[in-house]
Amino acid sequence: MEKVFNFSAGPAMLPQDVMVKVQAELTDWNNIGTSVMEISHRGKEFLEVVADAEKNLRDLLSIPDNYHVLFCHGGARGQFSAVPMNLLGSGTIADYVDAGYWAQSAIKEAKKYCTPNTVSVLTETDGLKAVLPAKDWKLSKDAEYVHFCPNETIDGIEIRDLPLTDKPIIADMSSTILSRPIDVSQYGLIYAGAQKNIGPAGITLVIVRDDLLGRAKEYLPEILNYSTLVEKESMFNTPPTFAWYLAGEVFKWLLAKGGLEAMKAHNEQKAALLYDYVDASPFYSNGVHPDNRSLMNVPFLLANPELDATFLEQAHERGLHALKGHRAVGGMRASIYNAMPLEGVQTLVDFMKEFEKAHA
Ligand code: PMP
Repeated sequence: MEKVFNFSAGPAMLPQDVMVKVQAELTDWNNIGTSVMEISHRGKEFLEVVADAEKNLRDLLSIPDNYHVLFCHGGARGQFSAVPMNLLGSGTIADYVDAGYWAQSAIKEAKKYCTPNTVSVLTETDGLKAVLPAKDWKLSKDAEYVHFCPNETIDGIEIRDLPLTDKPIIADMSSTILSRPIDVSQYGLIYAGAQKNIGPAGITLVIVRDDLLGRAKEYLPEILNYSTLVEKESMFNTPPTFAWYLAGEVFKWLLAKGGLEAMKAHNEQKAALLYDYVDASPFYSNGVHPDNRSLMNVPFLLANPELDATFLEQAHERGLHALKGHRAVGGMRASIYNAMPLEGVQTLVDFMKEFEKAHA
């Protein structure tokens, strides 16, 4: 079978080396005669998986000691509710920076619990979508926290600035976490659904600063309560053990690959290859200003949308899968997370050139 490169935005491709290892130990993990899926989450063996996963993640992101690492249920959308219910305290206002679809989805959910101050940051520069510099963001002085989504997965827009505030900064890093180093100490809380750069769907990472615990609403469902999850070490109920184990394998793989500096270089190289070609070609276009282009999700349009279906069909035949843009924006999107090898992006660009030649 021809080699497949999967450009899905999530659940996304996982590192090949990890998948091969996991397959080899699927039915007999760690020489215990059963799979890791079939053992108690409270048993000694699984607790070692948990401890290793946390340690390796802390190493990768240099997470300071005053931050807790939680592995939760409910995806990033679960955090759209958990964040306001845990962090508002007696306050009623929170700033929500809006640069696209996922920020807007978080705002919609936050409206159930507070009055979100929507901080619109999208603008146009040289006819391209761009993000206003942080000094121009209209934050509210009464906000309990400032929420933003540094990488808009659908729109392919990245916010490179941090909000200029002394309030806790909350970041939905679902589609950018682990793609490069970050300074965790600048954030109050970071959350991310796993299914892009962490592991399979079903587990959600939360990194929360200690002083933000203890503000939860009375009515908060216990399973979303950060204090409870800290106290119970993310085992208030049965956790998604297989996803947790697999995330741990991805963290080991990242360390073996040289950590997040190495990932940054790898991701920049892939993104440059694709954006440079799209920019040079009259046949394809990307509508985002270079300063705000996503390293992870590269949307692009064909000059003639009538060719979209043919493009997707022929790409699929070449082993280039899941290139269809999100239904909200159309066109194409190549998601090139950590696990996507340079070879995958090179194969895509080669195909795009051939397609252009045949149809221009
Ligand atoms: N935020 C961002 C930035 C996302 O990309 C996604 C999913 N693509 C979500 C939130 C929602 O994640 P989940 O499906 O895990 O709730």
